[in-house]
Amino acid sequence: MKVLKFGGTSVGTPQRMKDVVKLITDGEQKIVVLSAMSGTTNSLVEISDYLYKKNPEGANETINTLEKKYKKHVEELYTTAEMKQKTLAFLKEEFDYLRSFTKGIFTMFEEKIIVAQGEIMSTNMVTNYLIEQGYNATLIPALEFMRTDKNSEPDLEYIREKLKVQLDENPEKEIYITQGFICRNAYGEVDNLQRGGSDYTASLIGAAVNASEIQIWTDIDGMHNNDPRFVENTSPVNHLHFEEAAELAYFGAKILHPTCVQPAKYAGIPVKLLNTMDPTAPGTVISNETERGKIKAVAAKDNITAIKITSSRMLLAYGFLRKVFEIFESYKTSIDMIATSEVGVSVSIDNTTHLDAIVNELKKFGHVQVDKNMCIICVVGDLDAENVGFESKATEALKEIPVRMISYGGSNHNISFLISADDKKKALQSLSDHLFNN
Ligand code: ADP
Ligand code: ASP
Ligand code: MG
Repeated sequence: MKVLKFGGTSVGTPQRMKDVVKLITDGEQKIVVLSAMSGTTNSLVEISDYLYKKNPEGANETINTLEKKYKKHVEELYTTAEMKQKTLAFLKEEFDYLRSFTKGIFTMFEEKIIVAQGEIMSTNMVTNYLIEQGYNATLIPALEFMRTDKNSEPDLEYIREKLKVQLDENPEKEIYITQGFICRNAYGEVDNLQRGGSDYTASLIGAAVNASEIQIWTDIDGMHNNDPRFVENTSPVNHLHFEEAAELAYFGAKILHPTCVQPAKYAGIPVKLLNTMDPTAPGTVISNETERGKIKAVAAKDNITAIKITSSRMLLAYGFLRKVFEIFESYKTSIDMIATSEVGVSVSIDNTTHLDAIVNELKKFGHVQVDKNMCIICVVGDLDAENVGFESKATEALKEIPVRMISYGGSNHNISFLISADDKKKALQSLSDHLFNN
């Protein structure tokens, strides 16, 4: 069985939904994971923000605008009066449900329910369209099988078991539609897998059913060798190792959610990144195979803060790094990059919730310098030490740019540079020019 995931833009208009249906109705049995229509999750977050701020009028206005849009979609999507009626009735219930939250107390619990409705609406709409067009399709609700445990990690055993129940209850269907992103937590409450988490859903389902392939369909023809939002002349990378894809996703390549790689990697299931707008393009295949000696792509991670601790007292003292790391650990703040020298250590973090407290504690050990507004530029490929010369190519590309920190050797797949966010675009462009476009 294959698992196919279509992102927000891929189901963003009635026409796009029809295009998706063309791609999934080839007679093969499959599970199809859908995101919310593009813009919807943002609107639902906006509604929640209004309600946190006790502004029900603002929330109602956003709900009304969204409802109007969905009613129009129904007119465009379906041909039969019957299915239009059925879908409008479903959507009316949905929007009335959203309005019901503008009256009572509002907490994180209500917010999670609100943001879950985008995927619930898109999947119902597409399933109804498939049924109207005579296809053998059914909806399997993610809230019946997708679940996280007490550590907020997916409970793969539970998912496997409950998903099987859902599939067994609907035997001999060609297409099983389900929601990305949404789940229940260990207490049975509605929850989600974080923004962009539909990729993770697809990968978890793939692992749970031991799929032959996981396809992530989006609005671009695969993982590009640089961020197309900032750099001109990027091109798709045909093949990535799981580790390379994980590094790129973690360091900012938005096409793939960082958590998505792991379940597929452990289950050994290849992941394909494909373009709904250009379905015959080869896209990117992510698997356990490595192409020796190649630099594959560059990505950038924003909102990074650098912290440098210099100390003559602690100089090379054993236990010093442990004490430093324990401070970060006690504030549940993970470190991205690290560089050490005889006189100190530099680290970078992206979660600054506890920055002040961390800095206060670090001051016990020496002088602390904090640089905000930084970014990590990450060069990814088969970069083990045997593959000589790639560092000089990368540093040559960055010769005009002040580099605050460099990290290499943590894995064989990445070399990272910490620079000011103001230099990001220039750095990415120059890396493309030096590494790929000559
Ligand atoms: P979806 O809604 O389908 O999940 P996303 O917006 O999450 O789609 O991801 C696709 C987008 O990722 C692309 O439109 C592109 O702008 C962005 N992107 C960032 N870096 C890369 C990259 N290296 N390769 C391809 N796309 C990238
Ligand atoms: N709809 C969710 C979001 O916009 C999940 C996803 O699209 O992956 O974040
Ligand atoms: Mg996405």
